[in-house]
Amino acid sequence: MTFKVAIIGRPNVGKSTLFNRLVGKKLALVDDTPGVTRDRRVHAAKLYDLHFDVIDTAGFETAAPATLQGRMRAQTEIAIQEADLIFFVVDSKSGLMPDDKAFADIVRRAGKPVVLVANKSEARGSQGGMLEAWEVGLGEPIPISAEHGQGLPDLRDAVVDALGHARVFGEDEEDEDEIAVTEVLVGEDIADPDAEHEYDDTKPMRIAVVGRPNAGKSTLINALIDEERLLTGPEAGITRDSISVDWEWRGRLIKLFDTAGMRRKARVQEKLEKLSVADGLRAIRFAEVVVVVFDATIPFEKQDLQIADLIIREGRALVIAFNKWDMIENPQETLAELREKTTRLLPQVRGLQAVPISAETGRGLDKLMDAVLKTHKVWNSRISTGRLNRWLEGILAHHPPPAVAGRRLKIKYITQAKTRPPGFVLSCTRPDSMPQSYVRYLVNSLRESFDMPGVPIRMALRASE
Ligand code: GDP
Ligand code: GDP
Repeated sequence: MTFKVAIIGRPNVGKSTLFNRLVGKKLALVDDTPGVTRDRRVHAAKLYDLHFDVIDTAGFETAAPATLQGRMRAQTEIAIQEADLIFFVVDSKSGLMPDDKAFADIVRRAGKPVVLVANKSEARGSQGGMLEAWEVGLGEPIPISAEHGQGLPDLRDAVVDALGHARVFGEDEEDEDEIAVTEVLVGEDIADPDAEHEYDDTKPMRIAVVGRPNAGKSTLINALIDEERLLTGPEAGITRDSISVDWEWRGRLIKLFDTAGMRRKARVQEKLEKLSVADGLRAIRFAEVVVVVFDATIPFEKQDLQIADLIIREGRALVIAFNKWDMIENPQETLAELREKTTRLLPQVRGLQAVPISAETGRGLDKLMDAVLKTHKVWNSRISTGRLNRWLEGILAHHPPPAVAGRRLKIKYITQAKTRPPGFVLSCTRPDSMPQSYVRYLVNSLRESFDMPGVPIRMALRASE
């Protein structure tokens, strides 16, 4: 299994240089003149044990589409859509430019896994630029020098972190291993952005509805969006063959990935099945919150769980809809049973919201949307370093990490490096010795203390003295 990486950033940050380093050949044209690389190419790339494809993109600028820059930007947007992972490159020597933030917004809107690469970090005075890089709001900057080949081990780890072990290596993740733990060998203490971000509910929320064939996805989508009120058909900026619809629910703007519309377009019957699998994947990557529709009369088929697991690994917020509830004879007992099963079969995300609905009669749809909004909010939540470390003090007082080989592991501090989903960095001694079970305990405790049910939570370990 391979994945595609798009290298994105304003001109002259070092994209082509990084591309060349990953591809190992002088393929892209490197030049000091901004915007010299014009074509988009895909090439096999290697980073230690990771094998993937890298899409070379033109540098892009905020300009009218009629211009060369505009066309470059369009190309870049296509590359973003194609990519499974984005390397967003900034120049830590020059520091942030207004363009960096504009492009970071575009990248953020794509909702794809991102690694923030702070290039030219070997340059003198680049430390300030490194810290500034936090401001683009794409998580922890990874300092590298594309030109001198420095920082690449950390880049490798960041890729595994962003995509998940299973995606990168194409293996089944071990049951006990749902939390990506990364040891970062070198690294200065990283400043924390620490602003308790306000939740922005003016931006459209992206939702996708997925599930097995016949679970009731189309019926649900049609019930949710009053067809009359649809604003448009195909949307620009989203892959050619996908369709999203703009929609409003109680004043909240929503972009719904419309798999139903896609299916209406598919004329050949045999194509349908194949299409729905690919759609599902694309839908998950498009969405912030994914609603998985289970047929409550035949719930928890293997495929249902695989879909849910994929959504969690992709770091998306997840809400389960138990559909066809009108056919359930003893609803109370069944609901208790199904919820118990949910907790047991999907332990990675405690507190998952699971809502009984009938897409056909419309019952439960309000509750479903309430659950979607709540989960989206949790997925976006940010906790200040102060609160986190007060929490950590309590943990360390009552349940400190165990001793390994006769020596106590020490935890220094914790910060939240990422949102969407929440991602934390724990600074500790000997991160490689920290038992997974203890990290899991921390994650579960964080989830409870800060009320973050039902979303994936990531925890990375960083070595400290
Ligand atoms: P692009 O426009 O983003 O593709 O940037 P290029 O790869 O063409 O690089 C722009 C300039 O930055 C070139 O002069 C590169 O030699 C230089 N450059 C790239 N990477 C590094 C680096 O790691 N350190 C330093 N100091 N310069 C770099
Ligand atoms: P999709 O393949 O997931 O898009 O499923 P559809 O929306 O096409 O629905 C599959 C079948 O289930 C259709 O015959 C629907 O009428 C039926 N169905 C969908 N939702 C409900 C529901 O809430 N209750 C009942 N009884 N049937 C439903």
